[in-house]
Amino acid sequence: MKKTKIFGSKFSATLIAFTCFVTVFGFSQAEEKAKEKKGNLIWDAGTVQLELEKLGAGVYAFYPTDAREKNPKGHPVATSGGFVVGDNEVLVVESMINKRLAEQVMGFVKKVTDKPIRYVVNTSYHGDHAYGNYAFPKTAKIIQHSKTKAFMDNKEAFEADKKFMIQYFGANRGIEDVVSRTADIIVDDKKIIDLGNKVVEIMHLGFAQTDGDLFVWSPDNKVFWAGNPVVAQPPALPWLLNSRHEEVLTTMKKVRSFLPDDAIVVPGHGIPIKPQAIDFTIGYLEILHKDVKGAVEKGMTLEQAQKSITMKEFQGYALWDWVHSGVNLTNTYKELSK
Ligand SMILES: [Zn+2]
Repeated sequence: MKKTKIFGSKFSATLIAFTCFVTVFGFSQAEEKAKEKKGNLIWDAGTVQLELEKLGAGVYAFYPTDAREKNPKGHPVATSGGFVVGDNEVLVVESMINKRLAEQVMGFVKKVTDKPIRYVVNTSYHGDHAYGNYAFPKTAKIIQHSKTKAFMDNKEAFEADKKFMIQYFGANRGIEDVVSRTADIIVDDKKIIDLGNKVVEIMHLGFAQTDGDLFVWSPDNKVFWAGNPVVAQPPALPWLLNSRHEEVLTTMKKVRSFLPDDAIVVPGHGIPIKPQAIDFTIGYLEILHKDVKGAVEKGMTLEQAQKSITMKEFQGYALWDWVHSGVNLTNTYKELSK
């Protein structure tokens, strides 16, 4: 982990997190077979196939073809996204991890409309959501939060980020070829875009997983792209890689109260879900806060807290040990014992 010293602490945290992720993933018995096939990859950027689902007039989601089977089991899958088609132009949400997947997305758009892709939104700087930007036509404008742009404009950090992504999503899967392409349009608060008889809202509602999380909302069709802050349906957990669990909780409550009950949520890594599924995340964060606070007040060590806080009703995620005990509980304990 020599590289972690070169870059800022947030970046280090992500790198450490990825490393831990793979370590734990490697030991998970449930994934043993997959491991034999794929080595240490979390998922394989060279083999992921996307499928398209129409959610309403001019509104589409895409997600990995194995998501429908793996999401309910709590197994991780590749990135989800979507696009909105207006009378004049198209807005795409997420550019994916490499050119191959970006081209699958552009192929989906071509299949349903001859309107040009004018906007590409990244919900965060994470490579699986933003690396594909460079593959989109020059006439498409990239939309990011300023913090996302700042991360991807840092050449050294970006090249190091690519190396880590290659380690966990595969070498010679096109990640080496990725060139950082960042925002033409910055959204740090809210922006409404009219695609021609079709409006899309892009908003930052606070810290949810990174400093630059964006959400995308199609008000006509009540479709909401959540990105990583909603990983997938339960039992997937939020990843508090950069801690700040109280801010995450506040933001997720904002998201939940923003959404009408009949909305459709496209998560960061799965098939579309109902807003009620976000209650699982909110409940998890509330009980995590309460239990860890209690443990700190009782004077428990981190190890004692890890043993005693099992939160059985939230278990089931294939990455439970690492995400819950290793990341979420540990970071929350550190925050609350300050
Ligand atoms: Zn992601």
